[in-house]
Amino acid sequence: MPFWQRKSFAQMTHAEWESLCDGCGKCCLHKLIDSDDEDDTVHYTDVSCVLLKTDTARCSNYAERTQFVPDCVVITPQNVYELDFMPTSCAYRRLAEGRGLPSWHPLRNDGSRNAMIAAGMSAAGRVQNENEVHEDLELRIVTWPLRDRN
Ligand code: SF4
Repeated sequence: MPFWQRKSFAQMTHAEWESLCDGCGKCCLHKLIDSDDEDDTVHYTDVSCVLLKTDTARCSNYAERTQFVPDCVVITPQNVYELDFMPTSCAYRRLAEGRGLPSWHPLRNDGSRNAMIAAGMSAAGRVQNENEVHEDLELRIVTWPLRDRN
């Protein structure tokens, strides 16, 4: 059995834990919470964090990201069960909810991100960096980051 099926989050090595991230970049998009909605619905936008490289959907300074973006949420085995603001496709959220890793996940494709991109899960090439956006974020709400596929 692969490690994500046989180990708990707490039992995983740091490298295993990090490898769970599919690199979709969707968590790096600005989100809006509807305060008029009693369910606190999270709306995603196609505007990214300043550190996201929008052509690849990778963080340009992953190791030091919290120094530059203090509100970047670092996912840990402790907070992984409280990720209801993350996309439903997020590997950490999926595993925390007992849904397993999807067929397109890089860990199920010899490390390749091609299947993930083909499944429409990556933010690469679909978003704009916050540095380049001057309009109201409410005008940039999109629904594609909320899609998931098995
Ligand atoms: S949403 Fe989850 S899987 Fe995708 S980049 Fe963020 S942490 Fe990784």
